[in-house]
Amino acid sequence: MADIVVLGAGVAGLGLAAFAARRGHRVTLVERDGPPPEGGAHAEVAGWERRGVPHARQGHALLGLGIGVLREECPEVLADLTGRGAVPVTLETGNGDLGLLCRRLVFEAALRRRAAADAAVTLLRDRATGLLCAGAPDGVPHVDGVRLAETGEVTADVVLDATGRRSAAAAWLTAIGGAPPRERAQACGFSYIAQEFALREGGRFPSLRAPVVHELDFATVLAFPGDNGRFHLSTTVSSHDPARRRLLDRAVYLRFLASVAPVRDWLDGATPVGDPLPMAGLENRYRSLTADGAPLVTGYALVGDACAQTNPTFGRGVSLGLAHARTVADQLGRLGQEPAAWALETHASTDRCLGQWFEQQVATDAARLAELAGGSHDDSLTSRVLTALAVLREDDEHVRVAAERVYHMLLTPAELMRDRKVARRVLAFVREHPDLSRDRVGPSRQDFERLLTG
Ligand SMILES: Cc1cc2nc3c(=O)[nH]c(=O)nc-3n(C[C@H](O)[C@H](O)[C@H](O)COP(=O)(O)OP(=O)(O)OC[C@H]3O[C@@H](n4cnc5c(N)ncnc54)[C@H](O)[C@@H]3O)c2cc1C
Repeated sequence: MADIVVLGAGVAGLGLAAFAARRGHRVTLVERDGPPPEGGAHAEVAGWERRGVPHARQGHALLGLGIGVLREECPEVLADLTGRGAVPVTLETGNGDLGLLCRRLVFEAALRRRAAADAAVTLLRDRATGLLCAGAPDGVPHVDGVRLAETGEVTADVVLDATGRRSAAAAWLTAIGGAPPRERAQACGFSYIAQEFALREGGRFPSLRAPVVHELDFATVLAFPGDNGRFHLSTTVSSHDPARRRLLDRAVYLRFLASVAPVRDWLDGATPVGDPLPMAGLENRYRSLTADGAPLVTGYALVGDACAQTNPTFGRGVSLGLAHARTVADQLGRLGQEPAAWALETHASTDRCLGQWFEQQVATDAARLAELAGGSHDDSLTSRVLTALAVLREDDEHVRVAAERVYHMLLTPAELMRDRKVARRVLAFVREHPDLSRDRVGPSRQDFERLLTG
């Protein structure tokens, strides 16, 4: 049994605390924000102060990979959520996989109840301010605890940093004489605007797919059905688009949404709740704690968004965070070996869990960014394959099931293309339709600018 400190009780930190406790470890979970208020799902969303997660009230899709991890590790969390109005949805993956319709804070509150109720988990409300260093054999610092603003020093066999995309890992490592993480970063190039809605009495979601994606030439609109008849309509526009601030005016945003034909079905039966919420500074970023095959630090690992964050429009962060939390929890049983060996093993298993999804996201986003910058349609192979999958899945059951598995990260894109039936059909389609691009929905840019000014 190991003594573990987990920093950050977001989705990844909460999952990790519960998964580690299940494996017999003792966990101190440190979180700067307080608990959710009592009173059920709506109170959690309206009243939970979550300064540490500025995007907590944005629409979230919960994909098959993450829900699958929870079903295996903590099915009681899903039972709790279903009892509180979250909706499990059977996916078209042919394997009985589930997605879950649920607002992010409702989901997180259930994970938090689970972790807080575990006798092996101590939940400390405090803020981590730095790492403790036990020495630096061969110039590589070994972390054996953390410094907390209120509690002071807490020692541990390993410190797992799940403090999210703004992790202070670089500053903390530098402060103990180490090197900062090696980082790869790519700005997503867009800002997010999200508006919550409530279905009216007797209303139904037009689709249970999460998210439903509609691409315009200059923006993307996403619908996220959630728990208890609530849903979000979110829009991404270029960070350089001067129109983005106008969309934060609720009347303007509703006018814009109503101008996107397939979105009207969502608006017809619903009432807006609160005002549109912005979110900027989005990026794909991977932080690695190794360089040239050697660890930069031992006794310390990054988990969830602190390690890899990805373009939110693909709805992957929560699933990757939970899958990564399980991967790291599995590694805890191997802490008895040399710290450097553990660090390298953890790095390798992290890379298997997150690496290829990160790479795929970077490639997809690079193509879409080039398309937005040039005003022309992206004709890269990746884009043409995605178009082929979107069209073929309409009538081809085999392709539909495979594409759905990739969408929910239950199959990697490389595994998909190793399926000969899919590869043959997709490549034939790409050859036969060299100029086909995905459907775009209106309004035109001109009409859009007109409706911004009323
Ligand atoms: C606009 C937007 C939309 C998104 N939509 C989706 C989606 O549809 N589906 C999806 O799966 N993912 C989505 N994501 C991504 C998803 O929200 C993240 O991947 C997820 O929050 C990562 O969880 P985490 O636990 O790693 O980090 P976080 O959720 O950021 O949690 C970090 C925690 O650490 C705490 N903390 C930070 N610093 C300290 C400190 N010094 N001491 C103590 N505590 C600290 C914070 O308070 C917080 O609780 C979206 C992200 C954004 C920005």
